[in-house]
Amino acid sequence: MVTNPKIVIVGCGVVGALAAYELSHKVSADIVVIDRQLSAQGSTGAALGVLMGVISHKTKGRTWRLREASTRRYRALIAELALQGYPVPFNTDGIVSLCFDQSKLPRWQALKEQRHAQGWPLEIWSPEMLQARCPHIDIVSQSALELASVKAAIYSPADGQVHPVALTQALVAAAAARGVAFRWNTEVTRLQMAGLQCRGVQTVQGDLEADWVVLSAGLGSAALTKLTGDSRKENSGKDDEPLELMPVLGQAMEIQLSRVLGKADFQPVVNGDDVHLVPLGEGRYWLGATVEFPPEQGVLLPEAERLAAVRQGGERYCGAIAQAEILRTWSGLRPRPVGQPAPVIKPLGNISNVILATGHYRNGVLLAPATAQQLCELLAIA
Ligand SMILES: Cc1cc2nc3c(=O)[nH]c(=O)nc-3n(C[C@H](O)[C@H](O)[C@H](O)COP(=O)(O)OP(=O)(O)OC[C@H]3O[C@@H](n4cnc5c(N)ncnc54)[C@H](O)[C@@H]3O)c2cc1C
Repeated sequence: MVTNPKIVIVGCGVVGALAAYELSHKVSADIVVIDRQLSAQGSTGAALGVLMGVISHKTKGRTWRLREASTRRYRALIAELALQGYPVPFNTDGIVSLCFDQSKLPRWQALKEQRHAQGWPLEIWSPEMLQARCPHIDIVSQSALELASVKAAIYSPADGQVHPVALTQALVAAAAARGVAFRWNTEVTRLQMAGLQCRGVQTVQGDLEADWVVLSAGLGSAALTKLTGDSRKENSGKDDEPLELMPVLGQAMEIQLSRVLGKADFQPVVNGDDVHLVPLGEGRYWLGATVEFPPEQGVLLPEAERLAAVRQGGERYCGAIAQAEILRTWSGLRPRPVGQPAPVIKPLGNISNVILATGHYRNGVLLAPATAQQLCELLAIA
């Protein structure tokens, strides 16, 4: 009797959940997802879900290919989930990025032309056009901080925003309906190696056999790549360095206004100087996020002044935010690869049946669909 291959996915943030969902459609396999917590409790639980694909300045190479593949997949994925009974909040009104610096306009103009050549829409609006479409944005800053004015706005209708936790939970439910098993509150403590072959994983609840292991454990992935004994010796080669991931902290807040800002029928995400204003409906918004690197010494902790600066950054282009009530604040750690570009999607050195799908840094929600596609190819079962 032919038995199904066993795939163990370690980590159920957005990356692991999307991998489980896509693999459950593409392959006959026994798939188990293991997480030491519940789903979406790591970086994914802190993310704003802004999908900066077409509006990013990446125009070629791997980084653009991943962004483009994800952007293409997202709308169909969300529609597919809704059809299966798992609706996910998904903002398709696009992203508006504010340009305060005239000298940056030629670069945006060049990006617009490049995107058109690549078949993607991208618009550059004058301040007057911005005011007509987004009347809640102050083209001359009302903020006491400085007298800044918007020189132009870049509008990307093909980009958007998704609720990262709702998406992950929908993917878990849809994958479970297709037979994927989930084990919660189960920490994976190490890979079980036989030379260059991984035989399974050791967990706090016992061992689990595997033909393939996917490491999508975010910051927790690095510890699992540290091999010992013979496996370590045999895995020596150019790619044998253990994976190193740096935590980069992000803080954000949810705010409540007494009314919906701008036009009710056009609610894009707005980005000014890297501060996103993400509409959630009924006058609620997410505002974020900080980018805080670990200190050379000591512990990486959220700094209150940095979060205050995010709010000031929002007020700089949208004075109405000054009247907002803060409903909650939070922070999370982004997994940033050290010594290699984000994300890391490849076999673990010479161990061909362990695939790393991690280190997505600031764009894990955006890049999860493209990561899942690459995983399917690497598992040679697409
Ligand atoms: C404030 C903030 C804002 C962000 N905004 C955006 C955004 O707008 N757009 C965007 O695309 N990205 C954004 N990001 C980045 C994004 O959140 C991450 O890139 C993404 O969530 C990474 O997903 P992941 O599934 O790889 O990791 P995680 O979400 O961290 O999931 C890893 C999972 O693995 C589990 N795990 C770890 N170790 C083990 C182990 N040994 N055994 C079992 N389980 C284990 C953890 O419990 C966790 O559930 C933001 C991040 C932050 C912090």
